[in-house]
Amino acid sequence: MMMKLSRQFTVFGSAIFCVVIFSLYLMLDHLQLDHTKSPNNGGDKLQNGQLSILQDKIDRLERLLSENNEIIANIRDSVINLKESVKDGRGGLDGGNMSQGHYLELLASPPLVLPIDSQDCQFATREFSKPADGVQLLDVYDLLTFDNHDGGVWKQGFDITYQDNEWDSEPLQVFVVPHSHNDPGWLKTFDDYYRDQTQHILNNIVVKLHEDSRRKMIWSEISYFSKWWDNIDNQKRDAVKSLFEQGQLEITTGGWVMPDEANSHYFALIDQLLEGHQWLERNVGVKPQTGWAVDPFGHSPTQAYLLKQAGLANMLIQRVHYSVKKHFASQETLEFFWRQNWDPASSTDILCHMMPFYSYDVPHTCGPDPKICCQFDFKRLPGGRVNCPWRVPPQPITDGNVQQRVQMLLDQYRKKSKLFRTKVVMVPLGDDFRYAEALEWDQQFQNYQKLFDYMNSHPELHVKAQFGTITDYFNALRKLSIEPGHPSASLPVVSGDFFTYADRDDHYWSGYFTSRPFYKRLDRVLESHLRAAEILYSLTLANIQRFGKLNDFPAVENNRLLTEARRNLGLFQHHDAIAGTGKDMVVIDYGTRCHSDMDTLINHELKGLSFSPRSVVVYNPTEQDRTSVVTVYVNTPHVCVITDHGHPVPAQVSAVWDDSTTASTELSFVAQVPALGLGLYQLSTAVSGGAETAEYVFLRQGGELSVNMKHFTVNIPQDASTPLSIHNPHIQIWSSPTTGLMERLKLKENGSEHQIKVEFAWYGTTSNRDKSGAYLFLPDGEAKMYSPARSPVIRVTKGSVFSEITTSFDHVTHTLRLYNVQGVEGQAVEICNLVDIRREFNHEIAMRLASDVDSKDRFFTDLNGFQIQPRRTMAKLPLQANFYPMTSMAYIQDPGTRLTLLTAQSLGSASLVSGQLEVIMDRRLNQDDNRGLGQGVLDNKVTPSTFRLLLEKRKPSPLSYPSLLSHVSSLYLNHPLISMAVSTEAQSLSLTAFTPLASSLPCDIHLVNLRSIQSKVMLRSTSLQQIRLGCIDLNLPGFISSLFGQNTHSALLH
Ligand SMILES: [Zn+2]
Repeated sequence: MMMKLSRQFTVFGSAIFCVVIFSLYLMLDHLQLDHTKSPNNGGDKLQNGQLSILQDKIDRLERLLSENNEIIANIRDSVINLKESVKDGRGGLDGGNMSQGHYLELLASPPLVLPIDSQDCQFATREFSKPADGVQLLDVYDLLTFDNHDGGVWKQGFDITYQDNEWDSEPLQVFVVPHSHNDPGWLKTFDDYYRDQTQHILNNIVVKLHEDSRRKMIWSEISYFSKWWDNIDNQKRDAVKSLFEQGQLEITTGGWVMPDEANSHYFALIDQLLEGHQWLERNVGVKPQTGWAVDPFGHSPTQAYLLKQAGLANMLIQRVHYSVKKHFASQETLEFFWRQNWDPASSTDILCHMMPFYSYDVPHTCGPDPKICCQFDFKRLPGGRVNCPWRVPPQPITDGNVQQRVQMLLDQYRKKSKLFRTKVVMVPLGDDFRYAEALEWDQQFQNYQKLFDYMNSHPELHVKAQFGTITDYFNALRKLSIEPGHPSASLPVVSGDFFTYADRDDHYWSGYFTSRPFYKRLDRVLESHLRAAEILYSLTLANIQRFGKLNDFPAVENNRLLTEARRNLGLFQHHDAIAGTGKDMVVIDYGTRCHSDMDTLINHELKGLSFSPRSVVVYNPTEQDRTSVVTVYVNTPHVCVITDHGHPVPAQVSAVWDDSTTASTELSFVAQVPALGLGLYQLSTAVSGGAETAEYVFLRQGGELSVNMKHFTVNIPQDASTPLSIHNPHIQIWSSPTTGLMERLKLKENGSEHQIKVEFAWYGTTSNRDKSGAYLFLPDGEAKMYSPARSPVIRVTKGSVFSEITTSFDHVTHTLRLYNVQGVEGQAVEICNLVDIRREFNHEIAMRLASDVDSKDRFFTDLNGFQIQPRRTMAKLPLQANFYPMTSMAYIQDPGTRLTLLTAQSLGSASLVSGQLEVIMDRRLNQDDNRGLGQGVLDNKVTPSTFRLLLEKRKPSPLSYPSLLSHVSSLYLNHPLISMAVSTEAQSLSLTAFTPLASSLPCDIHLVNLRSIQSKVMLRSTSLQQIRLGCIDLNLPGFISSLFGQNTHSALLH
């Protein structure tokens, strides 16, 4: 059960994850670096004996890493080969067109001004027509008192009573649904769990279900199922298929994992769901109908929407706030149609069952009384390894006791049934890693069959009990509630989300929105790189098929490598992985390796620049033509950048800071790259007229300052009392000369000025017995302002490409940056925090924006980067309950202004005071929080977190959606341009730019992915996933068909 949450997933999962990150970086770096780059540096640190058991896997992963290197090399070669085909003359593919004009003219194009206007999005202007019985979760929160009253045997509920004759006319139907919750990584690694438990569970399913056709079982995690499938023979596979055909075995959800619904981005949610569903289609021909999510720590309507769009009809959720459960139970609304907030009709409705009680284990599923229900978990029969904590053990069912045991169990079934609107009740029967041994199967299935046989042969009991799959149950439910003849049992409509989860008392699970933020950031980087590789691969494949050079491109092999990366990303969406709720045994070492390698890989260092030009290829992963800044390390401040057509490019040489005052050099230039295309730039040493060098101002209140840098103009003013200021064509900001932190912001477009103060603050941990841990946030009251022991060094950089103000505090290096670019990149303030709380104990550090926006108690956070959920800060809730997940953005607004914080990593956020937005950046906690992890969170790393801040004018409107500017800024933040330096050997090839699309896609369309699907014959079809941000009715499939020819298979999400 979740009480003993996954420990080692993060251990191994992160290891996989880091290696994939390496791989992707290496893939993308392949052009620049020599081929001997190896990930082995740091490997000798693995001295801890506990770690050695993972060495085999690590070795394997490192092999995978070097294999992954090949994929981008192959794509690169293919792109190079393509140029000949391209030259054959399709106008739209003319690689040179994007840089034929004069560069400065292009730069001077009017800025993209996209004010928030409800006309932006037609769906946003439609009237909401909620049905009369529609329930909004936000309204439920208004209603509830959150008094945590003791409900008796059902501690968090109430007494349930019934009349004996209630089922006389219509018997109670009972579906007992056997299940086994298999975390892909927990106390053991994914592979060790597979070896020790999961494979035996799956093997026993085949044997034990065939013993009796009345037995049923469900399975969720395709990561495990596919691994097992690869290891069994055809005879066993046929036996499995027959179980599917007979309806004894059912795949629920069918995702690669059961994902975290708070921290996962919809890109990754879709990707892992597709990976599972495609595997099922290819291998067993099964299409899941019902979702099963018993363990994620809170539930998001995004997942409901994705399941609906993936063809599922029903779903089940479990971890919902105990007060919400109690309310839904009292209203008999535990079963409902879950509708998207933004859907004015019913097209997004999916039938959802919310489990009423505390947990998904047997004591909390048969009915309200865990002491009774535990006696019907026959794995806990005396003499076994597990028992009943309520001190009354189960008894084997015999002819002598069956009548009495049936009465006890039926009483629970009837009481549970009273919480629902129909006379059919669903009883999950399982727990974590259950049904591994044949004995357990016999204990559960034989004893339950005796109970069922007795019930079903005694008509006076008015009950029909059986094993069922979850879809068996939903089918029966639909018959009784939806089909004609039962109008009284019609089900309500519910909109909203189920965050923030509390399982008891004031134990709110808002800590995991932030725990291990380093990995939450890594996840997003991996997503962006995987998407880039998938799209480049698909474009290459499509073009090669069109121009007939297939033999030059190892499509199948590359697809295999992409699949590996995809599956590793999928595994990381597991609810113990991206959540940051695992053990840190191996994370300690691997995270360090990962981080140090990230440091070297993330900067695309160009050693050995000389007078002969080096080429840099810049990939634009977004679907619009784009003007963005690209930065590479250089070994000289005298650099010149030109396009492949010889036009000079605006560029700036600035310092890379080894510490706050010592530097080497980097080059930033403004690249213009076509949608999904590759741009080409030449870098060389310049005698004169090259990139401008940045100018620096250093300040430190009352402290000596010596700055160690060549090549740059440095100013250390004696009087440091006037506010610091930087600006670009769109924005001017002013910062405090003592802290460097922003205080005011002006929009140049209309001259409006706002107070926006950046602050940092600490949360401590309560002195009560239960303290904050990986899951729980239990602060010691309001945050205390961060006040550094010594005054920080402030560094102001001014340059032609960007300007920034950086403050080096003891725990945070904070940078405010403005890009001197017109359009999207210039319209937001970029905020980078490099956080280091490794010397702290029981502290959490938050960044706060305190503004003059009159937001009152309202704010908005996104869910999975997919949609916006309105929030209300409530005084009746403890502080930690007012924190919500922020996957891609949070904002506050008043009738005239909106302040949006866009984020490049999932973190916990709140707006505790009007005008404030706050985000927790890292947490370091000494102790376990009694949810099974068995440790604190002490493996903190120096963690970068990146944001963009947008201030926008708005017109008053009852509806609230992100503006197009906000969407596009978020996209740019999460998908930066990718630069790849061409190796000196490849310089001899004559490269050209690559422009795959005739034009940008409309700015309100986002191409989620271009993911090639392997057909049985060869790779030829491309699956298109798009999200519509707005209203333009564009025939995108047709558009893409013209690009890909007739083999396009479109899988539109919306
Ligand atoms: Zn779990």
